[in-house]
Amino acid sequence: MRPNLLILGGTTEATALAQAAAAEGIDATLSFAGRVERPKPQPIPVRIGGFGGVDGLVSFLTAQRISHVVDATHPFAAQMSRNAVAACRATGVPLVALTRPPWTPQPGDDWQHVPDIAGAVAELAGSPRRVMLAVGRMHLDVFAAQAQHFYLLRLVDPPDGPIPLPNHQAVVSRGPFTEAGDRALMREHRIDLVVSKNAGGTGARAKIDAARALGLPVLMIDRPALPARREASTPAEVLDWLAHSGANLGV
Ligand code: NAP
Repeated sequence: MRPNLLILGGTTEATALAQAAAAEGIDATLSFAGRVERPKPQPIPVRIGGFGGVDGLVSFLTAQRISHVVDATHPFAAQMSRNAVAACRATGVPLVALTRPPWTPQPGDDWQHVPDIAGAVAELAGSPRRVMLAVGRMHLDVFAAQAQHFYLLRLVDPPDGPIPLPNHQAVVSRGPFTEAGDRALMREHRIDLVVSKNAGGTGARAKIDAARALGLPVLMIDRPALPARREASTPAEVLDWLAHSGANLGV
């Protein structure tokens, strides 16, 4: 069977897999939610926008004759990941998640764990601080409950509306970020607390390394729980899984 892959994307891992699939001549489509205004050019066909829940994804898999799904979404894109598990179970389409291990604290790290965004907001109660808030623009509204702080925001796109935080500065950049660069940024804004999702991987870890170097505490938002699923940690592992699941990769 010649494979026809659906890659659920929005991460550097998904882009790396798209490149690997293109290099191998494997038919594949990369799917984006459409949150970023200028997605990077990709070497395989791209579709953009939600599928319409589990039912919509089931219809898509069937109509497009998708043979395999790779969930390469961000570890915090829990809804999409749950939908992928449910839709693949319903259709019998094999699923693998391409995911990165979470960060673990190293000597010198001063992390306080919270289970979710709401937990981070609750922990921010108290006297004004200077907070680097690196959680993405989707979740800024809830931090308005702790409007006493200065927030340094890093966003992929310029904000498309007013940011509901009275005392903030937004830096627009999609990286790559470096420990030295983030250290300088934190010093410049006299940051005394970093709030981060436990994204894992290398792309976003510069701020964690910078916090350690500066002796700053980190409010670390732990990953959402997901249903059990097969996992791979590299594009090569995904291609290996594909080859061993009845797909004919010969082109
Ligand atoms: P989410 O809460 O899990 O997803 C909400 C809905 O958005 C899904 O139910 C689905 O809509 C749609 N969606 C999400 N990812 C999609 C994809 N790759 N292709 C098509 N539709 C998708 O996801 P999120 O946290 O908003 O993340 C959205 C995107 O940003 C994902 O692609 C993720 O990889 C990327 N991203 C997220 C984060 C983060 O911290 N959450 C960070 C970096 C990148 P339907 O139900 O209509 O299908």
